[in-house]
Amino acid sequence: MDPSREGATHETILSGLDDSALWILGNIQKHGPITITSLMEITQKPRTTLNRSIRELLDHGLIKQEGLETSTGGRPSAIFRINEDGFYTVGVELSHTNIHVLICDALLEPLWIADFAIMDKSTPDEVFSRLFEALESNLAEVVSDRRRLLGLGIGSVGPLDLERGVMLNASSFPNPGWRNLGLRSIFEDRFHVPVYIANGASAAAMCEYVHYVTSDVHNLIFLNVGVSVRCGVISGDTLLTGDGDREGAYGHLIIVPGGRPCYCGKHGCVEAYATAPAIVRAFKHEIRIGKASSLVGAKSLDKIQFADICDAARNNDGVAIEVLRDAATYMGLVMANIINVLNPQVIVLGGTVPDRFPDYFDWAVQTAQKMIYNSEQVKCQFTTPLMGHNTIAAGAAAMVLLSAMKVKSLW
Ligand SMILES: [Zn+2]
Repeated sequence: MDPSREGATHETILSGLDDSALWILGNIQKHGPITITSLMEITQKPRTTLNRSIRELLDHGLIKQEGLETSTGGRPSAIFRINEDGFYTVGVELSHTNIHVLICDALLEPLWIADFAIMDKSTPDEVFSRLFEALESNLAEVVSDRRRLLGLGIGSVGPLDLERGVMLNASSFPNPGWRNLGLRSIFEDRFHVPVYIANGASAAAMCEYVHYVTSDVHNLIFLNVGVSVRCGVISGDTLLTGDGDREGAYGHLIIVPGGRPCYCGKHGCVEAYATAPAIVRAFKHEIRIGKASSLVGAKSLDKIQFADICDAARNNDGVAIEVLRDAATYMGLVMANIINVLNPQVIVLGGTVPDRFPDYFDWAVQTAQKMIYNSEQVKCQFTTPLMGHNTIAAGAAAMVLLSAMKVKSLW
């Protein structure tokens, strides 16, 4: 099912365009800067139709002309590109500790970035009232014509009911106000624009996909490793979602039968091996069985956190390096299994664990490369997120663009 939906909201600058103009706009967004001749080849539309749509898009300030391209023997051809000030989107990442918000221009470049902490006691009303006030005043500065705001996308922790735009029983929020929260209606009622919702990992996969789209990437996987393992999959230009639009429970892929206990009640899940909490638990275990570490004595065992272990590893602490390397190896094993099943062109590994300790990324990739079936023939590119901490929010903003341009599958 499409993770998005158009709400009953104010008209936007795109509302008056016919489907043909929207389709041309989507193609300029995807392939631009581009000439009419190249657009004719891609869209198979006659020049007269293209000229009419291009004129309409220019009149609305959605695209602009950028010089001329001289082809051999032919007349110089005008080059068109998206006008970065032609339209805007808002992208929101909702996690259980923080809301990260972007106002993006038409090229998905963030113009305003802000964070709103969610404390244990914070109710949705408290957090959203701070967020809305700041967002309103910055929208007033950045988006002078409000019809140019196409919508607002939210990449959220789950579980979500995407059809109704509701965050269900999110157990990670201590305050009960976050349970069964009508996210979509809260944002629609305040901003009167279409609001689109996806799981955070799916939004991140979309962000990466939109940035790779001109390099002919149709199959891409985003893996996030922090307190959990989450995964967004784009396969054949389509975002994969399971029944009920739930994201897959990749964190509970079992990699060690009868292995470490997982909070889900099973044993041997990757979340019990590869995540930040798993690394902290493994480190403490090593100390308890008598291994020597520079951290022991500097801090009491209960107070040791993931960041401390990363710092110790950077200072060549043997136990810290060992537990981080083990965790990365398990992650690499999972990556190899996912690659074997889905054969992606690009696999993006992000999240607080590789962010804080970049060797984790390298070790995971080395393991994956060793374990992939038929590795000589697999051409999978491994990379970190292109937009860093903005990835989920920017992906939520990209979701707005794709939906507003009525791009059905992705591109
Ligand atoms: Zn589990």
